[in-house]
Amino acid sequence: MVQPARDRGRALSAAPPSGDEFDYVIVGGGSAGCVLANRLSASGKHRVCLLEAGPKDRNPLLRIPAALAVLVRGTRYNWRYETVPQAGLAGRLGFQPRGRTLGGCSAINAMIYVRGHPADYDGWAAAGNAGWAWADVLPYFLRAEDNLDFAGPLHAQGGPLSVASLRSPSPWSHRFIAAACNSGIPLATDFNGPEQFGAGLYQVTQTAGRRCSVATAYLAPVRQRPGLAVVTQAQASRLLMTGRRVYGVEFVQGTTRRRVTARREVVVCAGAFGSPQLLMLSGLGPGPHLQALGIDVIADLPGVGQHLQDHIDYTLNWRRRAAGLYGLTLGTALRLPREVWRYCRHGDGLLTSNIAEAGAFLRCSAGEGPPELQLHFAPAIIEDHNRRLVFGAGFSIHVCVLQPASRGEVRLASPDARDAPLIDPRFLDAAQDLTMLIAGFRIARRIGAAPPLAAEAHESLHALESLVTDADIAAELRRRADTLYHPVGTCRMGGGRDAVVDAQLKVHGIVGLRVADASIMPRLIRGNTNAPTIMIAEKAADLLLAE
Ligand SMILES: Cc1cc2nc3c(=O)[nH]c(=O)nc-3n(C[C@H](O)[C@H](O)[C@H](O)COP(=O)(O)OP(=O)(O)OC[C@H]3O[C@@H](n4cnc5c(N)ncnc54)[C@H](O)[C@@H]3O)c2cc1C
Repeated sequence: MVQPARDRGRALSAAPPSGDEFDYVIVGGGSAGCVLANRLSASGKHRVCLLEAGPKDRNPLLRIPAALAVLVRGTRYNWRYETVPQAGLAGRLGFQPRGRTLGGCSAINAMIYVRGHPADYDGWAAAGNAGWAWADVLPYFLRAEDNLDFAGPLHAQGGPLSVASLRSPSPWSHRFIAAACNSGIPLATDFNGPEQFGAGLYQVTQTAGRRCSVATAYLAPVRQRPGLAVVTQAQASRLLMTGRRVYGVEFVQGTTRRRVTARREVVVCAGAFGSPQLLMLSGLGPGPHLQALGIDVIADLPGVGQHLQDHIDYTLNWRRRAAGLYGLTLGTALRLPREVWRYCRHGDGLLTSNIAEAGAFLRCSAGEGPPELQLHFAPAIIEDHNRRLVFGAGFSIHVCVLQPASRGEVRLASPDARDAPLIDPRFLDAAQDLTMLIAGFRIARRIGAAPPLAAEAHESLHALESLVTDADIAAELRRRADTLYHPVGTCRMGGGRDAVVDAQLKVHGIVGLRVADASIMPRLIRGNTNAPTIMIAEKAADLLLAE
């Protein structure tokens, strides 16, 4: 599988300046990278360098939970990728926001703390990844966690990541839960407890009403460690190799091309799009694709960039004027100064909302297995990732397919690291994903029309009630569905020819290189992907330090 490799030695010579020598170099300061920077530098024995393409995370907006509404479509801390035209989405370009600062996506995400279903991890292990079953990974979830509200064997206190119940959830989130229960869905008090099924409030990664990004949790407390160098606005452009061994990273800072070397290992944590991009730029990837771009093939790894999986999601919106619903209204504008004061003084109120406050896990087909669909409820109208602003208040229910069968890919647009990769999730390519999303749409619409959500008249956007047949609904889903921001699988873990890393997260056939982030997930988990990514990095730290 692995072809003879050589150092391509383009812009740099082989001898590194000694000041830039570390034990570990981590590429990407996102959810996974911040965990690794902390754990690998903890003993004081190892010099660690963390390279992050984005700027520092100093902006106060990054701490205010409700600012998510702005950050998700913003430019400074967001790569703002677009997909290639999606045949399954009537030819539209999907939007793919990704965090671009310390903390990565955890700096701009909706803060929902969900681990997924035990069957997800047992499935990874059953696919040949020893050490990744639920019983193996639960200790890493617990090591990360500092749960301020829930205790018991499935929760922990004292970890770096603050997990808490929302301080001021909207009364409409409670109405959603009641409406879901009135529609036959059981009440869930803890989505990370023994039972994932049901409707309830999400717990969030917050401390005292402020966002607790992974940078806040893991990096900020250790920034002064002498052995840890954090370099921002440093975009890795390729891995440096001699033969099959990776010895460092070339990166661009401003207009300067620099490099760092790693005595032990380089760990790529650049996320589901950035990690396969960097591997391919370095000659590690599908041979024919790299050759077509004029990139020397160091190792023909056909799985790099393949198996992209993402949660396809559809948003049902209802317009409604009522207290407790957020939106672009005069009422909200008049309320804002008081909310700012509350937030600064007490750390509660509207600004602590993560917008997607409540949700549900459910099945749409008969049978006993794990959930098939996830709902998110927001006490606000959300159109096109909030890129299309809608005046007026209302609420929305988002429905996504938890284990989609569609598989997409990430490819390079060019050999230049500054060019965005070509992202093709192939949403709704598999017929069963569409069938399941149609079923989910019907359930979400029923909840939206159930009391006490629908106690008074309210009006749906996009005439949801008029959609009767599956064909009507399918056409609407193709017109407006898009990502729930959970791309994974593009450097997937496994043993076959299509796998990129082994169960130790080492890149097949390459020495001194691991990938540790959301991209290694062999299969998308049933839930939001931040906590699982943190777990992956916690486990990766142990794997690295064990050698
Ligand atoms: C809008 C949004 C909302 C979300 N909401 C939730 C939620 O509520 N709950 C949840 O569990 N999950 C949520 N997620 C998903 C979750 O945050 C991600 O799955 C998780 O953060 C991924 O972590 P990662 O380490 O794999 O990648 P990232 O966090 O994306 O980190 C990758 C880092 O690498 C950097 N990078 C990339 N390329 C390079 C390069 N060449 N050189 C140097 N640095 C590079 C990036 O700038 C980034 O900082 C959301 C995501 C988004 C975008």
